[in-house]
Amino acid sequence: MFKKLHLQLTFFFTAVTGAILIAMTALCLYLSENGMIQNNYVTFLNTTNTMMTYMTGQDIITHEWLASQERDGNYLVSIYDNGVPLYMDRLAHGSEDSALLEQAAARAEEDYGFDITSGSADRRLSDSQNFSMKDEQGTRYEVCVMTLPKNDGVLHALVLYSRASEHTLLLRQRWFFALLVLAGILLLAIFCWFFTEYLIRPIEESRRKQAQFIASASHELRSPLSVVLSSVSALKKAAPEDAPRFTEAIRSESARMARLVDEMLTLAGSDAHNWQIKKVPTQLDTLILDTYEKYELLARSQHIRLSVNLPEVPLPECNCDGGRIEQILSILLDNALSYTPGGGHVVLSLTHETHRFLIRVSDSGPGIPDAQKALIFERFYRVQTSRTDKEHFGLGLCIAAEIIHLHRGRIWVEDAPGGGSDFFFSLPA
Ligand code: ADP
Repeated sequence: MFKKLHLQLTFFFTAVTGAILIAMTALCLYLSENGMIQNNYVTFLNTTNTMMTYMTGQDIITHEWLASQERDGNYLVSIYDNGVPLYMDRLAHGSEDSALLEQAAARAEEDYGFDITSGSADRRLSDSQNFSMKDEQGTRYEVCVMTLPKNDGVLHALVLYSRASEHTLLLRQRWFFALLVLAGILLLAIFCWFFTEYLIRPIEESRRKQAQFIASASHELRSPLSVVLSSVSALKKAAPEDAPRFTEAIRSESARMARLVDEMLTLAGSDAHNWQIKKVPTQLDTLILDTYEKYELLARSQHIRLSVNLPEVPLPECNCDGGRIEQILSILLDNALSYTPGGGHVVLSLTHETHRFLIRVSDSGPGIPDAQKALIFERFYRVQTSRTDKEHFGLGLCIAAEIIHLHRGRIWVEDAPGGGSDFFFSLPA
């Protein structure tokens, strides 16, 4: 499912960014081509103006000058002296050029009234006209026809500027940009592939955890449920004196299920961000003393020495949700008293540092192996030795971690000096 989503997202992001890239490139190409076409046209106009000025001022047009105008191969110039093409013109131009010049001369006469072959000087002043035309192959030409009256007659000139090389250049540029865009899209696709993978990872992880949570919860619910069901069927056939044994089993397993459901609902509330944390200034030492008093009797009944260590100086108040902090203390004390064997000790202590309050629950139990110190804060995780313990589901520490997280504090476990575990949690001061 995630593979398909990964592919779809990669395709979607590549398509969107690729389309934007294509549109932007096309716009740049359009502007650049337009600029080039305009520039070439302005160059053509300047060239023809220069030619016209030159020819007006010269009595003799030399072959070298004409050849220099046609040197770059884009220009074709033909001069008619009193309607007759100059001799060197006829020598210089092949049949293709001559056909072009004839086509241009015909257009100049038909559309603009420049009769360059007649030799009559019907215009008294210099005149010129620019127009465009295409040859049989479809190549575009810019044409300038000029009439220059002279003392002894009239000089006509036809200047053709071929757009063929410009067209080739534009085509080459388009290919270059197309390849560039293609390479860009390829790079974008690779980037999108890794980026979407990075985006999906937390969703995949959360889904994996959710599935694991459901599997563990079902597993935890199955055993009390089967005890309840078997006790109910046994109860039907049991002798009256055996009945209390089965009803007690049903009651205790139902209570266990109720507790598990309560814990799961608590975590579900945290996942849905439904937890209300009401932070109020709280005296942590009073809160710790109250909790200590609640657990004192239980510890004594288990032959565990429970003691409390509080600073002797008065402490500032801590801005926290007292009820929730008491819940964490209960989880930690519950665990400490459960995992510490009789004759051991549990110490509850509080210290105040510059930026934080540090609460510590230390016990002389079996301790927690290093490899499992981080894992015990995960849902339903229990250290191998406590898996058979029916009273523990492996949810307490992750509830504590969620509460601490909401208080922007930290919770961790270390080895207690002399064996056992040292659970710490800090709250911002
Ligand atoms: P549980 O309800 O099983 O105690 P927790 O989330 O509170 O769930 O604890 C997770 C696991 O961490 C426990 O199952 C136990 O194996 C281990 N653990 C927690 N506290 C202690 C402790 N004080 N000493 C030894 N092991 C502990």
